[in-house]
Order: sequence, then C-alpha cells, then structure tokens
Amino acid sequence: MLDTRQIGLHAYYLGTSWWRKQSREKLRQTGQLPVCSLFYHRVADAHPNPWSISCADFERQIRWLQQEFELISLPDLQRRVSSGNNDRMAVAITFDDGYAENMEFAIPLLLDLGIPVTYFVTFGFMDGERAFPHDLKRGIPLPTNTIDDCRWMAEQGVEIGAHTRSHCDVGGIADRATLIDEVVTATEELSEAISRPIRYFAFPYGKPENMSQAAVDLTRQMGLKGVCSAYGAYNFPGEDPYHIQRIHADPEFIRFKNWLTIDPRKTSIGRGFKFLD
Ligand SMILES: [Zn+2]
Repeated sequence: MLDTRQIGLHAYYLGTSWWRKQSREKLRQTGQLPVCSLFYHRVADAHPNPWSISCADFERQIRWLQQEFELISLPDLQRRVSSGNNDRMAVAITFDDGYAENMEFAIPLLLDLGIPVTYFVTFGFMDGERAFPHDLKRGIPLPTNTIDDCRWMAEQGVEIGAHTRSHCDVGGIADRATLIDEVVTATEELSEAISRPIRYFAFPYGKPENMSQAAVDLTRQMGLKGVCSAYGAYNFPGEDPYHIQRIHADPEFIRFKNWLTIDPRKTSIGRGFKFLD
C-alpha cells in the first residue's frame, strides 16, 4: 500500500515526466547532461534498516539502470565531467562501508552483468570481529568485509576505495595526526593489505560539513584520483572532476527513479562546490 507521501511522489514523477524528458533532451543537445554516481551500503534481506536494500529491490534497480543508462566507472565519469561535454545518460555505482553480505548477491550480480563498481571500505573494521557503531547502536552487529573479500573483489575487477579507518566524521577532526591517520595511513594500509593502489576516497557521512579542505589536500598529496561526497547531487560537465558528488540509491524505487531522471528541483545542489587545487 502506498502512503500519502508516496502517492505525492508518484504524482510528481508522472506529472513532470514529459517536461523532464524535454529538459533532458535539451541538456543532451548542448552536451550538458549530468553524470550520476550512486552509493549503496548493504544489499541483504535480513535485518532491513535505512542503509540496506533487499536483493530483489536491488536487482530491480540494476535491471532498470541497465535499460536506461550507460553504467560506467568513476574514471569514466571524471573524463565526461572534465571534458565539459556529456550527451549520454550515465551512472557510476559505488558502495560504502564494507558489509560482508554484499558478497552474497550484489557483487556477484554486478560482476555477472559486467557492471563497473567502486567499493569503499573502512579499514579498521576488516578483521571480521568489529561491527560498525551505527549497527551496534541498533543492537544488530552486522558482519563486515575482510581483507580476503577485498582481495577477491579486486581480482574480479572491482575498484576498492578508502573510507577512513574508524568511519569518523572527517570534517570534525581538529587534530592533524588523527586526520593523517584516518585519511592517509588507513588508505596506505588498505592498499598494502590488498596489494593494489587505492585511487579514490569516500568521506563517511559525506555531507559538506563532514569533509574538509585539509583532508582533500592530503588525498591530492597521496596522488588519489578523486574524493566522493554523499549529499545528493549531480555531476555536471565542466564542474570539478576531482570531487564526485553522489546520490543515495534509495530503496524506494520511485525516489530512485526521480533522482536519476534528473529532478529539476535538485539540479542546483552542489553546483560550483569546488575544493582548492
Ligand atoms: Zn560510510
């Protein structure tokens, strides 16, 4: 059963779909179609929570994405943004945190379908024993990925990215040594553990206040290729390609479709948000 809010969203989605199609066409003709990046956390049927999606709902989203978009890697997204020109609807898929259950359905499905994926893991939670504080708070310690999981994914072509050591609010770190440990040392240790270079970093929580110029400077000094936020914004051609703005892959399909078909109410979010070089 749909509640009033969902009915409202369906009405909005359907009511604006023609107009939205026209505006996408205009953006396509001028090479100004934004490129989307999605973030998921956990795909599993047990213990549903706000950062999980069921296997069936995930597969439904992926099948729809396959029909409607080119599914691309983060480097490809950045190329389109930095070229200043994009005339094809495209989405880059990412995951945050490092939940073990993603190995059961989500990652095998994406690999089977040949869909690029970047998988951000929190280095301090990869010994198979510690659960994330946000899960402990709910009384349900969910299993996390191990180094072996990440090694295996990397061998299959999944891009492994860094997501700090302790899943901290990077924007709130005042102490330089802590910042270096969370952003630099944890990333280096992850790279060493999986014997692969790490190219991307995703800020936990990912709102503007959870990021900092000092942290971005450190990622540049390490030679990373980009950082990801998570406050829901599109990546328009010509904007800063180093900062990849992502959209939550909402388990509610209508909200998910609403974002990805370019909601005109949301196109100004994050425009011109640029870290210093
Ligand atoms: Zn996270």
